[in-house]
Amino acid sequence: MAGILIDKVAKRFGNAVALQEISLTVADGEFVALLGPSGCGKTTLLRIIAGLEAQSSGKVVIGERDVSALKPSERGLAMVFQNYAVFPHMTVFENVAFGLRMKGADQARVEAQVRKAAALLHIEAYLERYPAKLSGGQRQRVAVARALAVEPAVLLMDEPLSNLDALLRLEMRAELRSVLREAGTTTIYVTHDQTEAMGLADRIAVMHGGHIVQIDTPTTIYSKPATRFVGGFVGSPPMNFVSTSASAGSAKLGGITLAAPVDGPIILGFRGEDARLTDAASGVPFRLKVAEPMGSHLLLTGHVGDDLARIVAPSGTRIDAGATLGLALDPTRIVWIDPQTGRTLP
Ligand code: ATP
Repeated sequence: MAGILIDKVAKRFGNAVALQEISLTVADGEFVALLGPSGCGKTTLLRIIAGLEAQSSGKVVIGERDVSALKPSERGLAMVFQNYAVFPHMTVFENVAFGLRMKGADQARVEAQVRKAAALLHIEAYLERYPAKLSGGQRQRVAVARALAVEPAVLLMDEPLSNLDALLRLEMRAELRSVLREAGTTTIYVTHDQTEAMGLADRIAVMHGGHIVQIDTPTTIYSKPATRFVGGFVGSPPMNFVSTSASAGSAKLGGITLAAPVDGPIILGFRGEDARLTDAASGVPFRLKVAEPMGSHLLLTGHVGDDLARIVAPSGTRIDAGATLGLALDPTRIVWIDPQTGRTLP
């Protein structure tokens, strides 16, 4: 069993707080993505779990062992970092074999594991080459193959696909997911790319300002963000937010009335694909500014009151620029946010 327990881990660099007290449990075999904007503390948290950085307080438990004071090599994990250096003086084969040789694996096992990892990462053709003769993306795949070859119980990854082109990244994402699931590898994966987190993770921990602001399944993070920040960070286009006011338990937006949890100033949050276009009189008035054909859909940008909103309509929908339309909203697919705290109201 190799679950991970992060218990009240905090980190200060001098006077600057990089991580507030963070607690997080990752189940054995689970894939958790740490998602957040630059500077939110994702890499710092990963480096603390790896043992590359010492926490200011709190502890890290892997399996049954408190590893808080152990060296990286004693923690029983493998890592792939964005700029993970491959060994320039070794062939790709020897790079991928490195961890296995360190563990004293015999030649037959080294061969088998290297071939398997190389096939997965599409680097079979370069096994005899030296890293200097590879592109950045190929080197990154060597680093991932090296980590997977040892079949680690715990794998830590920091933006491991960032040097790959878009198509390869998509392909690798799907393959990584299936191979790690099959192997039952407990994985923590740092990314600032929300589509990557959505596609890969069993659960996403969204980080902001040294905190985990929400940890949940991708579906829940997407449809029920805990805060305005999460709704605005996850999803493309981001969630729409409309400032309004409620009284006697409801908010009136043009032609529709929505039940609201509290009276007074309140923010309505909804996803662009959850709004159905209707006429101006029978929906929330939407003043269209721009309609962009995206191929799979039509992206409409316009105003609801003073707020900008983006609506996803089926491609082929015929609309006049500058028209005022109406948005029909499904009450089960909206959220209400407290403008003071930015938190979603129950
Ligand atoms: P990115 O996606 O840009 O890598 P991140 O979410 O991984 O961002 P961290 O690298 O963990 O963020 O940094 C968190 C905060 O801690 C930042 O404000 C950063 O400037 C600070 N920080 C990180 N490492 C150090 C360090 N060695 N010394 C001082 N401050 C640091």
